[in-house]
Amino acid sequence: MNVAERLARARERMRHAEELAGRAPQSVRLIAVSKLQPVAAIREAYAAGQRDFGENYAQELTRKAEELRDLPELHWHFIGHLQRNKARLVVPHLDMIHTIDSLPLTQELGRRAAQQKGSGPLRALVEVSIAGEAEKSGCAIEDLEAVLRAVEAEPGLELCGLMCVPPVTRTPEEARPHFDALRALRDTHGGSQRLPELSMGMTADLEVAIEAGATLVRVGTAIFGPRPERSG
Ligand SMILES: *Cc1c(COP(=O)(O)O)cnc(C)c1O
Repeated sequence: MNVAERLARARERMRHAEELAGRAPQSVRLIAVSKLQPVAAIREAYAAGQRDFGENYAQELTRKAEELRDLPELHWHFIGHLQRNKARLVVPHLDMIHTIDSLPLTQELGRRAAQQKGSGPLRALVEVSIAGEAEKSGCAIEDLEAVLRAVEAEPGLELCGLMCVPPVTRTPEEARPHFDALRALRDTHGGSQRLPELSMGMTADLEVAIEAGATLVRVGTAIFGPRPERSG
């Protein structure tokens, strides 16, 4: 199967899940996670109509964004852990950052985004460490409100919602409590008025995430096949 065929299958899975969940067709947006994949594969997906792409590493995103400048409607999402000193590299390219998880990162992104001339505020999601201590990235649930307020206080940022990466589970169904927990946090922190987007669900569990209320799913392997190893 080529990228266009895999993409069509992923979209079909989403449509089916939307229908089962009683949600409007195409109410969930697909982010094609292209980390470690060649730009040729991104071009294939773009040619097949895909517009939103997710990357995890600052240098890789910057390189690809420059190589793919000629694709006018391509939107980049940053979905990896972002070190503060890399914010200036990625901000000029981004449509959305999914992984704000601290006050210092919020301030640095806000500062860099405010310096961007001619573009609107950078759309921002706050990543929550939904399973607690075992998780390495994301802000602690008890710190969430403070981070949300810090994002709202930055004119360069536009608060759009929440994101989570639950621990790897054996079955998709085991991810459900984590997705339900993110949705419940949204409800206790201002609801969909304040936090319209929920970024959750990947190749293995996108159906469960859509049932639980995801508005953005981040799908890599189902679209591009297995990822090459990370080198250097
Ligand atoms: C790699 C990655 C994905 C995509 O994972 P697949 O299982 O390949 O769909 C989604 N979200 C994040 C944060 C990732 O790092």
